[in-house]
Amino acid sequence: MSENLKEFTIIDKYFKPLTNNCKAAQGLSDDVAKISLKKSQELIISKDLMVEDVHFLKEDGAFKIASKLLSSNLSDIATSGAKPLYYMLGFSKNESLDQKFIADFSAGLKESADKFGMSLIGGDTVKSSGKLFFSLTIFAVIAKNKAMLRKNAKKGDSIFISGTIGDAYLGRVLRDKNFLDRHFFPTPRIELGQELVKRNLSKCAIDVSDGLLSDLKHICDASQLTAEIYADKIPVSSKTVDLLDLISAGDDYELIFTVKKSNEEKISKLAKDLNIKISKIGNLIDDKKKPDIIVFDSNNKKITFSNYGFQH
Ligand code: ADP
Ligand code: MG
Repeated sequence: MSENLKEFTIIDKYFKPLTNNCKAAQGLSDDVAKISLKKSQELIISKDLMVEDVHFLKEDGAFKIASKLLSSNLSDIATSGAKPLYYMLGFSKNESLDQKFIADFSAGLKESADKFGMSLIGGDTVKSSGKLFFSLTIFAVIAKNKAMLRKNAKKGDSIFISGTIGDAYLGRVLRDKNFLDRHFFPTPRIELGQELVKRNLSKCAIDVSDGLLSDLKHICDASQLTAEIYADKIPVSSKTVDLLDLISAGDDYELIFTVKKSNEEKISKLAKDLNIKISKIGNLIDDKKKPDIIVFDSNNKKITFSNYGFQH
């Protein structure tokens, strides 16, 4: 590796500009970062790790890899309703890595971070003897005891979902050119999460990263409830592709959230205000059995499926 890819050159030239000179980063010149919080706030933290040839290919290009890393982690933050402020970066390099890669990587981070008003406050840079891997930790704030959590769904709640489901699958697997980049550039639903909390409309959300069914199942398990959902209410971009494929694929980064029946009308207003599509797909019931998901077709017949979707 050339001299100019030394760790401190990388940090100084490519990572320092991403701090936006924020106080918390301390100029990337200390061992630690330092975040000041107000008394009434809680810190919400999420970490993601991506490994070459498992979660990304080097050929995808550094811009897309960085963008996906930040967006998928932001999607986790969105589920809580918190406001993202800072992130830390775990960066690896190996013999195959050149300046252009790092320049593109930091440009990818910058574009997504700027969109959400986030600054880099630290990290670690290491040499890998093999595959590349990148990791990100996001720090976000929220008013105390307001965070949406998987375990907070209540019997009788309605189940809503943002956007459309299966777009990443249409692009990544079926190579539909209208959706090719949905996989790399999902829209983390940060604003939606924050508004759900501010307007007191939801206490429970999850993002669709593994697939609608398997992620909804996490809410069911954590809240000990069963979900009844209606296949024809699930918002999809293609009517010709098998629905079960679309809803068990993943990488959608839409939000599933639960809402008290009495608040349903306020959700339509919220969708209008934020100009995003929000659909009601079902309800949560307590059937006194093991938590499950029951999918009904348009004739109210149960659809059977063999698994909930992708599992790690
Ligand atoms: P240490 O040797 O204690 O791990 P480093 O020399 O790795 O510290 O890091 C020096 C400074 O540069 C620290 O403030 C650290 O947070 C920052 N830094 C190192 N790598 C990165 C990175 N990938 N992204 C952001 N900041 C980094
Ligand atoms: Mg270090």
